[in-house]
Amino acid sequence: MREVVLWALAIVAGPTYYVLSCAFFPFRNCGHCKARGRFSRKDGKVHRPCWWCGGRGMKLRYGRRVWNYFAKARKKAKRRAAAAAS
Ligand SMILES: [Zn+2]
Repeated sequence: MREVVLWALAIVAGPTYYVLSCAFFPFRNCGHCKARGRFSRKDGKVHRPCWWCGGRGMKLRYGRRVWNYFAKARKKAKRRAAAAAS
């Protein structure tokens, strides 16, 4: 019985931890430029911004993308309901 409770706790705690971490830390480092935001020639004299992250060095995490998608859908539905009521 005790193992079942521990497993249930682990199953609930893992996704909860991920959702909370996405809420507080929405960005991750860009893997293409290693969070530098730019690429440079080997001699270091010429730079160009990273195409993948737009030169910011960070990207939105996948969990935060899902969060934003549902937030946008919720906002859209609320706006539609308000328009239908008036
Ligand atoms: Zn990048």
